[in-house]
Amino acid sequence: MIEIEGLTKIYGSYVAVSDLSFRVEAGEVLGLVGPNGAGKTTTLRCLTGIIPPARGEIRICGHSLCSDPVAAKRGLAFMPDEPRLFDYLTVREHLQFTARIYGVHDFQARADALLEELELKEKGNALPAELSRGMKQKLVIACGLLHSPSVLLFDEPLTGLDPIGIRRMKSTILKRGREGAAIIISSHLLHLVEELCDRVLILNQGRKVIHGSLEEIQKTLPGLRADTTLEEMFLRITGHADDGTAMK
Ligand code: ATP
Repeated sequence: MIEIEGLTKIYGSYVAVSDLSFRVEAGEVLGLVGPNGAGKTTTLRCLTGIIPPARGEIRICGHSLCSDPVAAKRGLAFMPDEPRLFDYLTVREHLQFTARIYGVHDFQARADALLEELELKEKGNALPAELSRGMKQKLVIACGLLHSPSVLLFDEPLTGLDPIGIRRMKSTILKRGREGAAIIISSHLLHLVEELCDRVLILNQGRKVIHGSLEEIQKTLPGLRADTTLEEMFLRITGHADDGTAMK
């Protein structure tokens, strides 16, 4: 579903992502984690075609993002951490506009279902200025889900959501995974990643440090307890294991 081979992104002379390769299969949820500046957002932006890589091949649902960009982008949705909306379109008009761009014909039924699922039903006629931060985030996600993409890319999907919103968003993400979508979640909330993701990829300074299920990652780190959390593994892998214990 998502195939990345040798992805490299260079800003000026700074190598933000270096020779990154990995795959995400249908139905798999991958957690993309790493310290600030590790290259997570850069990777997601390359995957969506927002920025061009210096080198590397990206395939979405079998389509090359470089040579067949429209077909590749048709199958994906990117939900950025900062909701960007149109000031003069209501919630429903955002969905209508997105439906027209993606050629979604049964828009009304899908929009109703998504507004219900994401608790935005009462806000159908509201403009972005009348929405809370969490509601804006939900609207961005509703627009992303409208065309039933096979590949979902989430950058910090829970930012600004209340506890009920968080619980609902988790089930929204897991439902799409069960339905066969390939999903990447980039987040600093490691307990969320641990809970939702089948596999984890840790980036550090633009390079893949480790990639696998929690059990597989744990096996590469000798001397850990069986119940070691992803946070502990992360601190150890990124060379900050002492920071955690020093805080206790
Ligand atoms: P965070 O967890 O803080 O969001 P991140 O892992 O998403 O970090 P990126 O935003 O991908 O990291 O940034 C990776 C590196 O690339 C950083 O050193 C950043 O300063 C640099 N960078 C990102 N965007 C640009 C840009 N447009 N121009 C120059 N350098 C950039």
